[in-house]
Amino acid sequence: MEGIYDILIAGAGYAGAVAARVLAEKGKRVLVLERRDHIGGNAYDCLDGHGVLIHKYGPHIFHTNDQKVYDFLSRFTRWRDYQHRVVANIPDGSGKPGWRLQYPVPFNLTSLETAFGPEEGGKLGGKLLAAYGAEKKVTILELRQNPDPEISALAEYVYEHVFVHYTMKQWGQTPEEIDPNTTARVPVYLSRDDRYFQDAYQGMPLDGYTKMFQRMLDHPNIEVRLGVDARPALREFQGTVLYTGQADELFDFRFGPLPYRTLDFVFETWQDRNYRVPDAPYPDPEHPLRGGDFYQTHGTVNYTMDEDFTRITEYKRLTGQELPGVTTIVKEFSRAYTGAAGEIPYYAVINPANDALYARYKAEADKFPNLHLLGRLAEYKYYNMDAIAARALALAESL
Ligand code: FAD
Ligand code: UDP
Repeated sequence: MEGIYDILIAGAGYAGAVAARVLAEKGKRVLVLERRDHIGGNAYDCLDGHGVLIHKYGPHIFHTNDQKVYDFLSRFTRWRDYQHRVVANIPDGSGKPGWRLQYPVPFNLTSLETAFGPEEGGKLGGKLLAAYGAEKKVTILELRQNPDPEISALAEYVYEHVFVHYTMKQWGQTPEEIDPNTTARVPVYLSRDDRYFQDAYQGMPLDGYTKMFQRMLDHPNIEVRLGVDARPALREFQGTVLYTGQADELFDFRFGPLPYRTLDFVFETWQDRNYRVPDAPYPDPEHPLRGGDFYQTHGTVNYTMDEDFTRITEYKRLTGQELPGVTTIVKEFSRAYTGAAGEIPYYAVINPANDALYARYKAEADKFPNLHLLGRLAEYKYYNMDAIAARALALAESL
């Protein structure tokens, strides 16, 4: 392959595709090898059998404060303005089966008043505002440290109703046991802003993620081959290599496997008006219920106290696709990744021991000056899409 390609990239997700485009525009001839039969990595979307645009590997909502990333991606897509709103769905406390309560997550001043009533909730909100300040974000672990008995009791409520069961489902561990940056992604928010993210730019690629990736990879200096494991080629290739797969797999697990969580996605399509639309005590202002077209009140509903799945996402709410009378949802079930055939490692299990194990693989990679580990898997990090796009831009520009 030498002489034909300057750069070999393993993986056609955000990391691989963004880097490929930048390098191609610098005049490098780039070969992208992707093991799956499609581009886009975990952000891949496609139509399901009912014509609903779904994200095959779980719901992806783009959000960033990084102007450079936004401008770069905007060369390949226009955007649908979409502000993600999530509610926790919990038993309402009456003990009656099926009676549920919904309030915004991140837990905010509206959640407080929904949970405790306007009077008690208003009083507690006032206390929080006095303690931390308006519009402040406080992590649940921080809130639990507050010595004030009323705030501490509230922290216990939020911990029990929003965090502990969801985190146990997602990670098999309590919020104290996992990396504190993980629960810090969803802080208690002393605001009435009920959006999941507050970033300056938020939305969905107007024609979907896959279309955006197609345009990004459509360049005379880029060749993409699908259904190819890049590892044998990496061993032969003498030029620059960007590897976006698992670091442990690259070195044949010689120090032992890196722990990951995987997900089982259960898709359900509801049609012919035989679906339920639950009561909406807290309707999403941007998405009022429209008769039978939708399954749930919000793009994502988190089941923070019960059920075996963590959340249900309804794709039409995210994508804005107009498709009367039919809708597809996905339920996410999390479990330990075992490495069995067909399983996908979605989340690195970040803790000091696993970081140390990763560092041994990274040290192996560093022995090859032409090899660069890039991406959520290759760097064993909890990157959002914008963060990995920023990393890919920076690395590709530096090469
Ligand atoms: P990937 O997308 O995993 O791409 C890596 C690619 O490399 C894959 O296509 C893989 O097949 C390929 N590959 C691996 N090994 C080889 C090999 N040996 N040879 C060839 N190819 C190989 N981020 C957000 O910003 N917003 C969200 O709402 C959001 N939601 C998410 C929901 C879920 C359920 C998950 C799991 C992640 C979510 N993310 C979200 C994060 C987002 O998916 C990642 O930031 C992004 O996909 C990382 O891109 P990547 O290129 O590093 O990895
Ligand atoms: N989390 C929680 N309850 C929620 C939402 C999030 O306990 O209702 C915790 C949980 O530990 C989760 C983490 O916060 O893994 C990060 O949530 P986020 O929604 O960012 O996770 P992702 O979308 O990346 O799966």
